[in-house]
Order: sequence, then structure tokens, then C-alpha cells
Amino acid sequence: MPATTVLPTDQPPLLHTAVDQAVKLLESGEVVALPTETVYGLAADALNPAAVAKIFEAKERPAFDPLIVHLPDKKHLDTVAEVPPEVQKLVIQLIERFWPGPLTLVLPKKPCVPGLVTAGLPSVAVRVSANPIFKRVAQALGRPLAAPSANRFGSISPTSASAVAAELDGRIPLILDGGACMHGLESTIIKVEAASPKNLITILRPGPITAEDLKVYGKVMRVTRSVVDEAAEAPGQLASHYAPRTPLRLLAKPSDFTPEPGKRYALLSYRGEEKDGFLNLADWLQVMILSPGKGKLPEAAVRFFYALRELDKLGADEIIAEPMHEHGMGAAMMDKLRRAAVKAGQPSSLPESRSATGTVAPPSE
Ligand code: AMP
Ligand code: MG
Repeated sequence: MPATTVLPTDQPPLLHTAVDQAVKLLESGEVVALPTETVYGLAADALNPAAVAKIFEAKERPAFDPLIVHLPDKKHLDTVAEVPPEVQKLVIQLIERFWPGPLTLVLPKKPCVPGLVTAGLPSVAVRVSANPIFKRVAQALGRPLAAPSANRFGSISPTSASAVAAELDGRIPLILDGGACMHGLESTIIKVEAASPKNLITILRPGPITAEDLKVYGKVMRVTRSVVDEAAEAPGQLASHYAPRTPLRLLAKPSDFTPEPGKRYALLSYRGEEKDGFLNLADWLQVMILSPGKGKLPEAAVRFFYALRELDKLGADEIIAEPMHEHGMGAAMMDKLRRAAVKAGQPSSLPESRSATGTVAPPSE
């Protein structure tokens, strides 16, 4: 495949041309990288198995990992998913509140959805993106788009067009450059069940829509299995996801770390405060601070994957990560850090979070 084209979208005529080209490619069964409000997605016509196969090929993604289907708008839900009558009211409430936006629902699939999209599962994961560029492309195409993160399998999700190019240059025909992603973390994935007295909302993957946001609508649970224990329910939640190439260790407290002589370490710091006790632990090759000062989780989320990418470029022996609050968007970042640590064979010195609110909340607010 020739070099990948990157088209800007920051002027109305440029946006028009870029959307046009993206739609033409998607109509012809090609893949295109598009910005979403979470991370950049690698999109293809979700109802065309040959097009979907190109996503797996470009990403080198194993076929057992199902894809999220992005709808042009809420009205398309019925085309790909069944909404069981017992949860209909809840589903309507959730999509009225959170769509378009970073909430993905797992529902029984309609027969038109290829097995390749759902990895053979009887369910399909669906959402509607709020990104204006993604929306324009999806609406002009008028069909659902399968769009996993636009990175090679197992590596860090891209939150800018240049990060997509670093992952997939020469493997895909086109990237639309929509600037930095608003949230910076992948969508929250939930499944819903009717229960009394409250309906049950299970968070399969934590993300920008938090347990706190969802608890208004039912009893919120987090999957309680270990990150090293793969569940059939969310086969894509592999421990190896989201990992930099450099080994990463997630610490509970500064005293859990003693630098080894001759080794080079980099620090992923939550708020860069000396009083947290991590900054002076080693002669760091580089320190990336996610949200300087007070530490704000949504701000940290926007910088999270970028910071991991930057630290991964250093060739350090190890990346050391400070813990974050386990509530709000901190739950998603801590989940990703735990997975990265597991991949490196460096399980964190923190216990696993086993509830919606989490059990660990360092540092003090
Ligand atoms: P992404 O790579 O952001 O498109 O997210 C795909 C992830 O969504 C997968 O790795 C799974 O964890 C989850 N997912 C997709 N489809 C399903 C499904 N039918 N049931 C449960 N989880 C799903
Ligand atoms: Mg991904």
C-alpha cells in the first residue's frame, strides 16, 4: 500500500474534501482513521465483512477480539441490536442521556452484524460518537461503522493524527486529522440487566462515563474478575491491552520502589507534587506530569496515552507510574496501568479495585 494520506479538517473547505474522501473510501470497502471524542478509531463499514477484515489486518488484531459498532445516530440502534423489553426503559434513558458520547452498550445482536465484528458473540457493542468529524462521515455514509482504536494490537491508543501515523503509516490509505481527542480514554463499556428493586449496570471497561455518572440509572457493578483472568463475556479485555513496550510498574506508595544501580527509569506522575514522595526517588530520565498541581482526573485522562507514548520513546529500563484516585476517570486510568503492569510481569503493588467506587484512593485530595 502507498504512503498514508493525512488530511486536515480545520477549515470548512478542507473538512468538506476530507469527509468526501473518507466516505468514498469507506463505500469502496476501505478503512479510514477518524477522530472520535475518546481516541482515534480505525473505521470500516461494519456490515461489510471484507472491509472489517481490513481493520483486523491493519491492526494485526486477533479475530477473537470484538469491535465496537458506531452508529450514525440513535435511530440506527434497531438496525444492529435487539433491545430486550425488560431493559428497554433503561436503555432509552441511558442513550437519551449519554448519546452521542463515550458510552458503549452491549446488547443482543441482529443477524446483519457479521460474526467477524462480534468475534462470534451473540452480542454487539454499540455507541454513537459525539465527534463532529466522525459524525459527518458516519451520517454521510448512512451505515454503522466498526471502529476500534487506530493502533496496532496491544499498543497504546492514539489520541492525535500523528500518533495514528506512527502506528499505521503505510497500512491504511487515509487519516483525517481532527486534532487532539477531547476525552483521551476509550469509551466506557456497559451491559445492562433487569433486576429488582434496581436495574443492574455492569461496567465491562471503565472510561469517561464513570460509575458515579451511571449510578443514577441503576445499581452499578464493576467486573470483579482479575485483569489476568480472561472472561468470555468481554474477550477483548485482555491483560495485554494498553501497554507501552517499556516495562511498567504501578506503585501504591513511594517506599515500594528502590532504584537498582545502573538502571534508567522514567516517571509517570499524576500531579508532579514533591509531597507525594515520588519525584525524588530516582534520577529520572524524564518525568511526565499528567495534571500539574492539584491533579484533575479529566485533565490527566487527556494527557494519559500521550504521556505513555512519550515515556515509551526514551528507551528506559522501566516506567514507574504513580497511583491516582480510583474514582471518576481515575478508575479507567488505573485499570489501564494495572493491565500494562501485568503485561510487563510487574503486577502493581496496589490491590485490584473490585467495586464501582474502588478501594484505593491515593494521593489525598
Ligand atoms: P475498541 O478496541 O475500543 O473498539 O473496543 C473493543 C472492545 O469492546 C473489545 O476489546 C471488548 O472488550 C469490547 N466489546 C466489543 N464487543 C463486545 C461484546 N459483544 N461483548 C462484550 N464486550 C465487547
Ligand atoms: Mg483498542
